[in-house]
Amino acid sequence: MGVSLEKMKNPLPVTQEAFCDFVWGNREVLDEMFKEAKEAREEGIEVGVAICEEDGALFLGERSKGEKHTLHIEPCRKGNTVGDVHTHTGVGLPEPSLGDVVGSLHYGRHFNCIISEGLLWSPIVSCYHFKRTPEVKEIIRTGEEIEREYKQVGLTADVERRLEEFEKLKHDAAPKESAERACTFSKFLGEEWGRQGKSP
Ligand SMILES: [Zn+2]
Repeated sequence: MGVSLEKMKNPLPVTQEAFCDFVWGNREVLDEMFKEAKEAREEGIEVGVAICEEDGALFLGERSKGEKHTLHIEPCRKGNTVGDVHTHTGVGLPEPSLGDVVGSLHYGRHFNCIISEGLLWSPIVSCYHFKRTPEVKEIIRTGEEIEREYKQVGLTADVERRLEEFEKLKHDAAPKESAERACTFSKFLGEEWGRQGKSP
């Protein structure tokens, strides 16, 4: 069996539109996660869920709850992990961090939706399609280099310093070219979710 024509045209297991439609279809999960994140806001805790794909169908993975300022999203137990939805603490527009882009692409995940407490504590969700720009490739390469060194020589003072610098860098906002916004959902001053970007 060869690679299907469809796969050759689109090497990703899911399109940006299909990803957005799937998340839009799971708005009650966005509500639950937003509520959970809001309750844990004081401790700076984020929550998330993986989005899984098998035979072209998308489904939710297990929910993950982070510790202070770290969130590890459990990969899907079956199928491919194609992305995730997770919260960011604080108000403002939902933007991915550089760590979101680099961490996702390192594991072959191309999509993220970020939930933030927009303005006036109403949730805003923006979904992004991550791209391997030269800048991002360079950062992934640096991360892999530090990892290799750590495995070879252990946690020397130099490795520790480089790791710290790398961790700090990951909290910065992602460069715009590496994260294309695919869709935005918000509940601004209303009970109903609204959608910007293509509707199903
Ligand atoms: Zn994030």
